[in-house]
Amino acid sequence: MMTAKEYIDSLRKLNTRVYMFGEKIDNWVDLPIIRPSINCVAMTYALAQDPQYEDLMTATSNLTGRKINRFTHLHQSADDLVKKVKMQRLLGQKTASCFQRCVGMDAFNAVYSTTYEVDEKYGTHYHENFKKFLIMVQDEDLTVDGAMTDPKGDRSKAPHDQKDPDLFLRVVERRADGIVVNGAKVHQTGAINSHWHIFMPTIAMGEADKDWAVSFACPSDAEGLYMIYGRQSCDTRKLEGCSIDVGNAKFGGQEALVVLDHVFIPNEYIFLNGEYDFAGMMVERFAGYHRQSYGGCKVGVGDVVIGAAALAAEYNGAEKASHIKDKLIEMTHLNETLFSCGIACSCEGCQTKAGNYQIDLLLANVCKQNVTRFPYEIVRLAEDIAGGLMVTMPSEKDFKSDLAVGNNGETIGEICNKYFATHENVSTEDRQKVLRFLENICLGAAAVGYRTESLHGAGSPQAQRIMIARQGNIQGKKQLAKTIAGISDK
Ligand code: SF4
Ligand code: FE
Repeated sequence: MMTAKEYIDSLRKLNTRVYMFGEKIDNWVDLPIIRPSINCVAMTYALAQDPQYEDLMTATSNLTGRKINRFTHLHQSADDLVKKVKMQRLLGQKTASCFQRCVGMDAFNAVYSTTYEVDEKYGTHYHENFKKFLIMVQDEDLTVDGAMTDPKGDRSKAPHDQKDPDLFLRVVERRADGIVVNGAKVHQTGAINSHWHIFMPTIAMGEADKDWAVSFACPSDAEGLYMIYGRQSCDTRKLEGCSIDVGNAKFGGQEALVVLDHVFIPNEYIFLNGEYDFAGMMVERFAGYHRQSYGGCKVGVGDVVIGAAALAAEYNGAEKASHIKDKLIEMTHLNETLFSCGIACSCEGCQTKAGNYQIDLLLANVCKQNVTRFPYEIVRLAEDIAGGLMVTMPSEKDFKSDLAVGNNGETIGEICNKYFATHENVSTEDRQKVLRFLENICLGAAAVGYRTESLHGAGSPQAQRIMIARQGNIQGKKQLAKTIAGISDK
């Protein structure tokens, strides 16, 4: 397994093409806007080296028998699914951000089981292709982007009906040795920080969409592949050289537009190529795993938010107020409800035909549906506890300024420290730190991961409601009522 440093160094060796603010970024690894997101992925490597987290962070590969990072593991039991969620909560607690590596893990498990069933029906060799690819990923301890979401253009139209056919990623040429693909994937979590990418279809497809029903793996620096960084609220604070104002200067998430401009994919990396009737299965399984994931990662971030809100209350001298205590209880209740859903859909997991374990789809969708709501209530309560100062406080530079402005020569720094003082044992700097942290997570760059990603990541709320409708077994429930009420079938 790689160390955190080896992971960061490994990114430097790739020829990943990154664009931001209209320019090509050569040393993107050290760029202050991107680096916190790299530190976050690096934490998935660092914790795997720590003996106290060995049980959660590592696993034994069913493919090779070797010890691997759990982020590259095919879940072999319901217990593995539970450990996955606990690992994600741990990472959320350590980073207070999206640590990005789960999308690859969720893609591995979805593609592994789907390719097995495609081969069973069509006599193809996608499952073997995938196993060889995954052994490389496990042995080299790689980070892989799980790329699903297409730009989708006009949402009322199927892929083949779009005015621009590239709005869904598609095969534009089939050769004896592979395929040429063209298109893009949007909102790609951790894409720039990944060594490889697994591309999957984004919706269930019909025969007319055959050329869009494609899945494959591709390295980050493949010829024709490039990425455009997605900016985040207040992101340029990271360029000001003031770490307090950033809120969480060490860690952050990352999303990017990934463009594949006529990229050649050799046969050995193809996992689906025209078998359109399996596109839906791949989507459903990947989405199910990722909806489970949110019952871990967002809970870990929630733990930090609750802690920060409690600290803000303490620094304000308000921690004994009964309404503050009650708000912290409510935040804890909401957060643990999300965790309960993540654990429940894992415990109820079952084995796929390929042998790995899949979550209970209904419960995973209920989990994610709650994630689209509860973090919003948690940040509302955090803002309530923090007070307006969270968004009105002067900058770190003001607190440190020695520009004299007062009648007696007081500096801006002295004025800020005088008027933002609270009880004696708390420095104004610590107060700034905790309020800026909360600002960052409630409405700054980290809100991408804690709020909007909770809403739209792994599918928007309506996508879960469709799955809940499909899995909810209303007919069976009607039958239960009929039996007890003594209503006989006609
Ligand atoms: Fe992992 Fe959560 Fe980020 Fe998805 S949103 S990649 S599950 S940390
Ligand atoms: Fe996500």
